[in-house]
Amino acid sequence: MDSIRFNEEDFNGYLEQLIESGRLDLMQSGITKLVIDKGYDALSPKQRKVFDYMIDTNTVESCERCACDIPWCEMLEALDNGGYCNYCQHMMEKLEDE
Ligand SMILES: [Zn+2]
Repeated sequence: MDSIRFNEEDFNGYLEQLIESGRLDLMQSGITKLVIDKGYDALSPKQRKVFDYMIDTNTVESCERCACDIPWCEMLEALDNGGYCNYCQHMMEKLEDE
């Protein structure tokens, strides 16, 4: 995951969702809270390593079907549905219904 996307406005919202979801261990959620409060730039190199790993294991880089960037507000859903954006998930559900 490119850290440039950490600057997108709904990134902090996703971090809060991650903490609430119970997916993170104690150290990961502590560092994630720090990023919400102070930003990624405030982390030490060691903390960045933990945070980067957490992000890599809790995000989908791009949609499996259309290859678009998954918006942060859809990321948690994409993790659960196999890596699809909302649009593709919707389209696939529609196809299954027919
Ligand atoms: Zn898609």
